[in-house]
Amino acid sequence: MKSFNPAQFRQQFPALADAGVYLDSAATALKPQVVIDATRQFYSLSAGTVHRSQFAEARQLTERYENARHQVAQLLNAPSPLAIVWTRGTTDAINLVAQSYLRPRLQPGDEIVVSEAEHHANLVPWLMLAQQTGARVIKWSLDQHRLPDMTTLPGLLNKRTRLLALGQMSNVTGGCPDIAAAIALAHQAGVPVMIDGAQGVVHNPPDVQALDIDFYAFSAHKLYGPMGIGALYARPELLAEMQPVQGGGKMLTEVSFDGFTAQPAPWCFEAGTPNVAGVIGLSAALEWLADVDIRAAEEWSCGLASLAEQRLAEFSGFRSYRSSRSSVLAFDIAGIHHSDLVTLLAESGIALRAGQHCAQPLMNALGVSGTLRASFAPYNTLQDVDALIVAMHTAITLLAD
Ligand code: PMP
Repeated sequence: MKSFNPAQFRQQFPALADAGVYLDSAATALKPQVVIDATRQFYSLSAGTVHRSQFAEARQLTERYENARHQVAQLLNAPSPLAIVWTRGTTDAINLVAQSYLRPRLQPGDEIVVSEAEHHANLVPWLMLAQQTGARVIKWSLDQHRLPDMTTLPGLLNKRTRLLALGQMSNVTGGCPDIAAAIALAHQAGVPVMIDGAQGVVHNPPDVQALDIDFYAFSAHKLYGPMGIGALYARPELLAEMQPVQGGGKMLTEVSFDGFTAQPAPWCFEAGTPNVAGVIGLSAALEWLADVDIRAAEEWSCGLASLAEQRLAEFSGFRSYRSSRSSVLAFDIAGIHHSDLVTLLAESGIALRAGQHCAQPLMNALGVSGTLRASFAPYNTLQDVDALIVAMHTAITLLAD
């Protein structure tokens, strides 16, 4: 039975044992003990690596490694574990789609439509591709709710459009566009869609088949797993058409000085010794999450963000950039620079982030040079909100002097 109890959930995170208040989960989630244990056990007890050696430990490791692909496929309701490629994370997965899927299909003058709300990870790979091929990146602007404007999307999709790139959830506004509607419009125009799931996956793991998603990228570290590991889901027909862009060990079946024959997907995209510890840690995170009521956990963290927003509104000059009821609260105080405020908050033991959040075009659209961002997770508490408010009072009083 899935359940969620905030106090019990919190107890599983050793990093919260000290007195600090962690409000930076949109940057990276803390790790529960089970993930730490799984990673430690791997390094202390395992021998060998995957897909190479014949001895028993190495074979078992390969089984665990491939089983984790099943777990990710289950999380996303992918049609097959073979539609899941291990990557270093979201950034790596999006770059893989850019170079492996899109680059060979682009002609000068072709277009890639990218929402204005995107993290640099879902913009710069397309800009690089434009530089490399003569294609153009087309901005999909935001509406008054700071979400990509659905009414303008049909007008941006045309015969030259080769891809639509869209985030499931903004790391700044927390806004979640209607990805089902965007995908339907894109598909009507024959355009495949890349969904950046870096923020969304922990709040609402998508059903890639029901939503008809072509490409979906996420990072394990935002899902309570280790850093340096993530995955790309690609629709099997599209994955089968992609060419590997990295060559090396284990991505091939035969090689000579005349050439090589690549393995089938997903292994042809996984050249070199992989991040086995990362995969094992992600597997532990997914196993642990399977017993968590994600909806209830999400309700708790969004409730805390709403409470924080309500109480911060008591400060004169408070401005919120929150798009919808999400766990991410970007804000600032008119007349106070965000970096001054965040420095003083840090001195009071509040860990949150200020700046441009790797989303400079979005900052321009919001008309700000940067914001603070308090991002809540299910391990946060009402006391964390109190502590933030007290620290804000102290900081603002000091800055006003
Ligand atoms: N997209 C979004 C919306 C993000 O928040 C992040 C992480 N900050 C990324 C992409 C990139 O993820 P990673 O750094 O794990 O590759």
